[in-house]
Amino acid sequence: MQLPVDERPGGETAPPAPSPDWHALPVEQVFDRLTTGPQGLSGDAARDRLDRYGTNRLDDRRRIGWPRLMARQFQNVLILILVVAVAISLAIGERVDAAAIAAIILLNAALGFIQEWRAERALDALRRMLAPTSTVIRDGRRQEIDRGDLVPGDIVCLKRGDRTPADIRLIETVDLRADEAALTGEAAPVSKHPAPTSPQVHLAARTGMSWMGTDIVAGQGQGVVVATGMATEFGRIAALAQAAGDTGTPLQRKLDRLGRRLALFAIAVSVLVTAAGWLAGRPLDEMALTAISLAVAVVPEGLPAVVTIVLALGAAAMVRHNALVRRLQAIEALGAATVVCTDKTGTLTRGEMTVTDIWLPAGSVSVDGAGDRPHGHFHEDGHVIAADSRPDLMAALETGNVCNHASLAQEDGRWRVTGEPTEAALKVAAAKAGFSDGAPVRVCEFPFDSDRKRMSVIVDHESGQRLHMKGAPEVVLAFATHILDGATVRPIVDADRHVTLAAYHNMAARGLRTLAVARRDLPANAETPGPQTAETGLTLLGVFGISDPPRAEARHAVDTARSAGIGVIMITGDAAPTAAAIAGQLDLPTNLVLARSEFAELADAELAEKLKAGAVLARATPEDKMRVVRLLQARGEIVAMTGDGVNDAPALKQADIGVAMGVRGTDVAKNVADIVLLDDNFASIIAAIREGRRQFANIQKFVRYLLSSNIGEVLAVAVALIAGGPMILLPVQILWMNLVTDGLSALALGVEKGEPDLMEQPPRRPSEGVLDRPAMLLVSALGGYLALGALGLFAVYLATPDLAARAQTMAFTAMIVMEKFNVMNFRTMHEPATRIGLFSNRLLIGAVAATLGLQVLAVHAPILQPILHTVPLTLADWGVILAVSAPIFLIPESVKWLLWHRRRRHHIQVVQ
Ligand code: ATP
Repeated sequence: MQLPVDERPGGETAPPAPSPDWHALPVEQVFDRLTTGPQGLSGDAARDRLDRYGTNRLDDRRRIGWPRLMARQFQNVLILILVVAVAISLAIGERVDAAAIAAIILLNAALGFIQEWRAERALDALRRMLAPTSTVIRDGRRQEIDRGDLVPGDIVCLKRGDRTPADIRLIETVDLRADEAALTGEAAPVSKHPAPTSPQVHLAARTGMSWMGTDIVAGQGQGVVVATGMATEFGRIAALAQAAGDTGTPLQRKLDRLGRRLALFAIAVSVLVTAAGWLAGRPLDEMALTAISLAVAVVPEGLPAVVTIVLALGAAAMVRHNALVRRLQAIEALGAATVVCTDKTGTLTRGEMTVTDIWLPAGSVSVDGAGDRPHGHFHEDGHVIAADSRPDLMAALETGNVCNHASLAQEDGRWRVTGEPTEAALKVAAAKAGFSDGAPVRVCEFPFDSDRKRMSVIVDHESGQRLHMKGAPEVVLAFATHILDGATVRPIVDADRHVTLAAYHNMAARGLRTLAVARRDLPANAETPGPQTAETGLTLLGVFGISDPPRAEARHAVDTARSAGIGVIMITGDAAPTAAAIAGQLDLPTNLVLARSEFAELADAELAEKLKAGAVLARATPEDKMRVVRLLQARGEIVAMTGDGVNDAPALKQADIGVAMGVRGTDVAKNVADIVLLDDNFASIIAAIREGRRQFANIQKFVRYLLSSNIGEVLAVAVALIAGGPMILLPVQILWMNLVTDGLSALALGVEKGEPDLMEQPPRRPSEGVLDRPAMLLVSALGGYLALGALGLFAVYLATPDLAARAQTMAFTAMIVMEKFNVMNFRTMHEPATRIGLFSNRLLIGAVAATLGLQVLAVHAPILQPILHTVPLTLADWGVILAVSAPIFLIPESVKWLLWHRRRRHHIQVVQ
């Protein structure tokens, strides 16, 4: 909330401020008006303000409360048609039918409500997991808090990659730049400074402010929160945007189209059947009700809703595989993914880094000791040495220690490093030589990013200043004019460069991540230089080799991807030999490792060819990722791309599935991604793809199942009518079948486990819908069997005088029992159901049992008989129904067995 000035805690004496002109006030006045200071608020004051001004959240329009959810169950054309059916029934005096249809509508709504409620809760839980944190200063201490708990007066620390969590008046900035395109449309990043600006300037020119929802793309800074939640500038826009609608996922749109086509078909069938019946001399009102029931029978009600439910529950299932889905569309795209482009460091590798080797011009040193503990020894030629016996070693370690943001501390007796793993490894190595965590006063910093591939800091040093640089060896080497050889600094010559590069390649070929260090002394009190002048004339100190082994599960995940027809392309910022070594350990092609200097030269078509063959790209920049995504997409691939940095955002957005790293990733990357990996692990992407495939297959299964049932019903009613006999199914019976009994089984198909060979099939074609021609044939054949079974029984019973009264109940019940056998056909498409365990989907077994139980009641409970127009059946009748129904499952199952055995025999022969 914007802090109303007259309600400021403790601010009674201050004159009211011209409210949102915080940008125009000097920092001291901002502190004063918000009763805060550089030490931040106290915990108590913050709690107080939170109570008073509310949480720092935008009203979430995606959250749907139960009244809306309930109302949504009735916002459906079909329900309206059914309401018309109730009215017609009442008009022709069929009160029982009217009540029955009304009850069915309510029951259907209740079922729909329960399912959607579950789905909404699942989505809610996911949104909560995404809740980001912010670094604030409270009680004079830095702490991480939930962003929702920010209050006006809080001091917030911002750094590159963060998304600004509230409207903030900046009090301190170091090269801070923000991308405000989301708010102002201004594409170029805006430089930020704490100085006040004139009150009249527009939003984009208020450089003393950082606005909620904008991204920090460079530098760092601190500021004081002046507005939170809906009172922020972003909140105002969000309030305006709330009217915007949701377009649904592509699959939902496809199903919507299918639904509409079926509705047209339904209308045509209804009109035809009504006309035929009427011409045959049947009463018009009876025909009108039949027409309505048929319409309801044809259209698979609420398909899009069922899809949302399955996807939402699917998203909850994905979290168990450490993939947090931000957009439901991603699940569909995941199921069709054909290529995964992945980072190496921390995704394919463990990201637990340890310095094991240090190459120095005067001779290499190795380091032992594992993990974060700063205990270990330095070895030279197999002997332990004291680190301080080698001034060149100490110099390299010092630069690694100073040009560093990580910190090392002991907590409860255990050593903990915080910060980026590469830097943490250098910190630990330096600590092994006795360097402390503290660093000299930093004058300025030229930060690391994946484009620069280096980082430098200038610190106070003895009588002047010193620049320390660390970065990719070839990059650092390019700035070196001298080299520290033992204790002497001398000009670097070509031979030195060759030796350095050879040493670096040697380490990289062993899979080590490599980083060179260099330094330069600057005169005291010089004007702080820019990177162009400062990062020159350096003295090369040495090259660190850092081990970061592959994750144990990554190799298996790569194999799984391969057998699932999914290409894996490693795109890393690391050096080519390192990439090749890690690729080799993961069974990725090592003959196709291309360094940037090689692949940047390639024409699009050539690079696309190499990518198709599974190239590994090294020393790649974020722009290269973008090129790769575009090239692959132009070839029709569905691309998943991983990323963590600010610069990765465009490629993540462009990819069909943007995957951000949950642990390492910046807010910016997470905010554009479709999926956030909670454990940064490559294996989680493959698990998520499996989930995506499973869910798409399940949606296909239940759509096909519902359609086959509906085709059966329509055929049975139409044929009976055309044959001129009595009605085979009454309207209320058709509704009962569709709304109450089928919906349950269809949803149960939605949670089917997935076929054992799910990851042995190639990815589905992206254009593939839920119904292709073979599926349509299958669905029609099964629907035909349903109609034939029901019509056959109906005819036989009608023709036998003793049984005629039971004919309709027999047809009705047989239809339901057949449908329950039929649902088993759709559990797996490629394998016999018995292979995946006949009873393995408990929900389905429960749904089938419940439906059959309901049907026994429909037939035998005196209270339901008049409503559903049934008569009791004998045990023999039930036996006949079972005998007629079982083949609808047994025949396809036998065919599947035969095909499966043939496939397996063929497979065995091929293997032999
Ligand atoms: P991936 O893209 O697979 O995650 P990466 O993390 O190794 O690979 P970058 O972070 O772009 O890619 O690193 C590229 C190179 O830059 C590294 O090989 C290393 O030499 C250097 N480097 C990495 N981190 C730092 C850092 N904090 N400071 C200076 N140089 C670094």
